[in-house]
Amino acid sequence: MSLIWLCALFLSGCSSTIPEFNGEKAFEYLEAQCEFGPRNPGSKGHAQCKDYFIDFLNSHGATVSTQEFPIEVRGEQYQCTNIVASYYPEKPRRIFIGAHWDTRPWADRDADVTNHNTPIAGANDAASGVAVLMELATILQANEPEVYGIDLIFFDAEDAGSYGQNESWCLGSQYFVEQYSGKEPEFVIVIDMIGDADLDILIESFSQKSSPALVKKVWDIARKNDIRAFSSKMTNYIYDDHYPFLEAGYEAIDIIDMEYPYWHTIEDTPDKCSPKSLQDVGTVLTHLIYE
Ligand SMILES: [Zn+2]
Repeated sequence: MSLIWLCALFLSGCSSTIPEFNGEKAFEYLEAQCEFGPRNPGSKGHAQCKDYFIDFLNSHGATVSTQEFPIEVRGEQYQCTNIVASYYPEKPRRIFIGAHWDTRPWADRDADVTNHNTPIAGANDAASGVAVLMELATILQANEPEVYGIDLIFFDAEDAGSYGQNESWCLGSQYFVEQYSGKEPEFVIVIDMIGDADLDILIESFSQKSSPALVKKVWDIARKNDIRAFSSKMTNYIYDDHYPFLEAGYEAIDIIDMEYPYWHTIEDTPDKCSPKSLQDVGTVLTHLIYE
């Protein structure tokens, strides 16, 4: 066997090239969502942005399904929608990657109390996570992963809860877990508030307690790729869309940066976010999918 053949064999054995995640492109998706205005259930932005996602995913090679469910918030009824974009649905081994797409109806942590009933723009909370899902969709359309089929899940109704009442948050992911009867994922990753220009992702405590191997796997990828936004420090227990999955026995983690001064304020706007932060998180996920 010649040296050339050996090289060719070696290269084909290591042919799992990892696609490049484009943070600039993802940032455009963040801005596009914010252009619809606030996306809280019942708003015009919510209805329009839902259609935008469905059109986008249909035109990017996904098998798209929607899941409608009613919610009641402060005595009012709203119709909500989870959207699932499945890539390579025939593959038996699957990963769920999810983010919530609704925004908080009230800027109730704003320093100015007169803003407390104003809906937020939600650039970081929630457009950032969904922007990463959208760029992953473009990557998945063009690049079939060797091992995994991927389901990108756009959860609705995460952010209309009451502080101190865990079950009033994450209504979309709770509903999804109750209803789900498809192929079981090997693990679930939720991303939320990952667009902060000053990104610092600590290890969320429910994730570490329930799914330490998955935390290690993800944080190891970040370390190997010198992505310093992933810190080895621990943070609090955060009730987020990963929690209903954990409760149902799935391996699940939340990638979140809660140290965001504009959280649930009218200041949560695109200028507080950066393409680099989306790129960092997207790169880690791309490696996870394709490595
Ligand atoms: Zn929120």
